[in-house]
Amino acid sequence: MKLTDRINRIQISPTAAVITAADQLKAKGVDIADFGPGEPDFPTPDHIKQAAIDAIRGNKTKYTPTGGIMPLREAISAWHRRELKSNYDAKECVVTVGGKHAIFNVASVLVEAGDEVIIPAPYWVSFPDIVKYTGATPVYVETSVEDGFAVRAAAIEKAITPKTRLLILNSPSNPSGGVTPPGEYEKILAVCRKHNVWLMGDECYSHFTYEPNQPFSIASAKDSKDNVIIIGSVSKTFAMTGWRIGYAFGPAPLIQALVKLQSQSTSNPTSIAQYAALAAMTGNMGTVPVMLAEYAKRRKRIVEGLNAIPGVRCALPGGAFYAFPDVSAHLSGPHALAKDTTELATLLLDKARVALVGGDAFGAPGYLRISYATSLDRIEEGLRRLDRFFSRAEAAA
Ligand code: PLP
Repeated sequence: MKLTDRINRIQISPTAAVITAADQLKAKGVDIADFGPGEPDFPTPDHIKQAAIDAIRGNKTKYTPTGGIMPLREAISAWHRRELKSNYDAKECVVTVGGKHAIFNVASVLVEAGDEVIIPAPYWVSFPDIVKYTGATPVYVETSVEDGFAVRAAAIEKAITPKTRLLILNSPSNPSGGVTPPGEYEKILAVCRKHNVWLMGDECYSHFTYEPNQPFSIASAKDSKDNVIIIGSVSKTFAMTGWRIGYAFGPAPLIQALVKLQSQSTSNPTSIAQYAALAAMTGNMGTVPVMLAEYAKRRKRIVEGLNAIPGVRCALPGGAFYAFPDVSAHLSGPHALAKDTTELATLLLDKARVALVGGDAFGAPGYLRISYATSLDRIEEGLRRLDRFFSRAEAAA
């Protein structure tokens, strides 16, 4: 079948591929220790579900304004101002069909063939493919485990060329859990301003930072408005991945362009999901610290457990809910288990019945992404399986 160049430039999300493979095995009754999904294992809070039920009963089931209902745009702006110290109003906010949709649309209206987009690595799998779909070129800037996978202003400045239009900065990061310190983030903003580069801050994990728990937005910085775009979502903060509500903040003309694109593609995000998001943004946020405390316990246990496995080294991630161990010791030499982490992940699913994602997909060869958004019991089971798998390999070597 003849398809366009732009669709042939991208591939199916490798994280979705892992989830599908694990689900197929589960459907056959196979017990999988599932470290694959990047979503909270907690239910959506009751008051949010109730708001959606009320919206259905109240017949709020028709088209809404393309960029989202005004009370929701206002509520997201007020929530962001309160939680993350920004200063946006409703006309600088658009509601989207999840954070990914917001990123896709921002890239669509800002970059095209001939442009370069800087993406710190390890990166979330969708960033490069979204950029490639627009025809622009991704340019990667490495971060290191020794530096907590923080993004550094000096490294960004080095990568900037006259073609650079946009930097995508995701902190806390999926997959590494890296957090870029606020002071450094402000230096990065200064670099972007100096070179007239847009800075897109992906804040989907903003409320999951550990020691200290200090949600930060670059929109709190002075002079951030002209060249900053903020992407956020209710998916992780409120355990609402399936509802598909995200948002973007930016200068009003950019928001108008995003609304124009939505008007010719998705139209409005689902009406009843918008009412649920409105309840999330205006209601009690008590479930957030409860989730965070649980993630903190799991983080401690999984990192400790991984470091006890032969040939596996794992740093303590600063945020999000992913452990990102280095398993490169198992990928080289005469007793290498696999040629790369993609092959290793397949082997782990087939032989150890553990689902996780290889670091290759995230621009991090030698690493594995392990989501600990699963119960401590399942974490213990997964650790036992990983230990058995790698210990056997070690004994055979
Ligand atoms: N950004 C990052 C870094 C993510 O990990 C995700 C989801 O996994 C998203 C954005 C998008 O989330 P959603 O589209 O569910 O809002």
